[in-house]
Amino acid sequence: MSSDSRFTPKILGIICNWCCYGGADLCGVSRFQYPPYIRLIRVMCSARADLRHIFEAFLNGADGMFVGGCHLDDCHYITHGNYEALSMVRLAGKLLEHIGVNPKRLRIEWVSAGEGIRFANIMNEFSSEVERLGPLGKSEGIELSELTSRIQMVVNLIPYIKMSKRDKLALHLRDNPTAYDELYTKEEIDQLLSEVPSFEIDKDKCQACMICLKKCPVDAIVGGKKQVHFISQDKCIKCGTCLAACPPRFGAIRQTSA
Ligand code: SF4
Ligand code: SF4
Repeated sequence: MSSDSRFTPKILGIICNWCCYGGADLCGVSRFQYPPYIRLIRVMCSARADLRHIFEAFLNGADGMFVGGCHLDDCHYITHGNYEALSMVRLAGKLLEHIGVNPKRLRIEWVSAGEGIRFANIMNEFSSEVERLGPLGKSEGIELSELTSRIQMVVNLIPYIKMSKRDKLALHLRDNPTAYDELYTKEEIDQLLSEVPSFEIDKDKCQACMICLKKCPVDAIVGGKKQVHFISQDKCIKCGTCLAACPPRFGAIRQTSA
């Protein structure tokens, strides 16, 4: 037996309560078989699945990630959140490609509560695909440690990525769902990640007014009364709030490219 045939992938699925989970439930009740190593997390809507869930799962050892929701236009909510899940997964796929991860390790599908057999078929097909790809990094030909640091880089930039792509992430292309396949381009993602901004405080201009420190959403600004402030680059999520908050008469914060 080859070592590959013994490979048991770690696959995580995030599935919506109303349809895909119903399909998974019916699959179980009907005793349709699919690999037991697939772990499922039930959420109220597939739109709850986030870029952070995808990339942190890969960071923590997942070999494959699955998102499952209601069929398009069958969302339980008027928000039609599955369109947002689709956009997010397409963006995640391009980000994976950018860092060298095979995007086939990520899949989104629609399954209704009456489609137990469809759920089993998708799980079997996807798990076979991930088994063929092997452990994360193998089909990519990249050392896991290198891949991990690339994934961590994306995790750190998720707030920036979500802010930059918020319009596309909220799109509901109900007339043309296949347009999501081309919604994000390689060039666009290359540019996005090459233009990551960096924010710095000019110590000669900072008046220690603490305005930026109070507004930073992640406590990335260090300072105090009568103390020149500085930005912890490890914590900064590149939101730009401090730049807008620093009074123009001080103009102590500048934005540069990383
Ligand atoms: S850019 Fe955002 S996260 Fe970074 S220091 Fe400024 S306010 Fe904080
Ligand atoms: S808002 Fe501007 S002047 Fe005030 S502490 Fe922050 S960087 Fe310094």
